[in-house]
Amino acid sequence: MTSQELRVSKIERGTVIDHIPGGQALNVLAILGIDGREGDVVSIGMNVPSDRLGRKDVVKVEDRELSQSEVDVLSLIAPEASINIIKNFDVVEKHRVERPERVSGVLQCSNHNCITTEGEPVDSEFEVLDDGIRCVYCDTIIRDDITAHILA
Ligand SMILES: [Zn+2]
Repeated sequence: MTSQELRVSKIERGTVIDHIPGGQALNVLAILGIDGREGDVVSIGMNVPSDRLGRKDVVKVEDRELSQSEVDVLSLIAPEASINIIKNFDVVEKHRVERPERVSGVLQCSNHNCITTEGEPVDSEFEVLDDGIRCVYCDTIIRDDITAHILA
């Protein structure tokens, strides 16, 4: 088996997230809530040579599809990413992520007085700006290090 085959070793069922900017794979895992403690079977390729991106990361998660809110947040850190749904070792669905107008859930507002962070049963919701995201409840803007705001 060549190293190329190793990199693209197939999974029977699940999701392959391709064209992640090099170095962002661990943040993608954080978005998916994968911390290694539970049973998710995950393969990661880091800094794989890529024609389009120079170098890219690839994440494969077995027996799992992504929710729309996970894909929405993913698009913020990996705008070029493609999502491949795998069944029976075949790609049955493939699409690029799209930058959404809003993202809900998954991310936490950085304002500790925000209604979404005070233990109220209110899901966070952010408007997506060109250079960040804005909480629709308290107008707090998060520009840097969006992945630091992923809900645990
Ligand atoms: Zn807020």
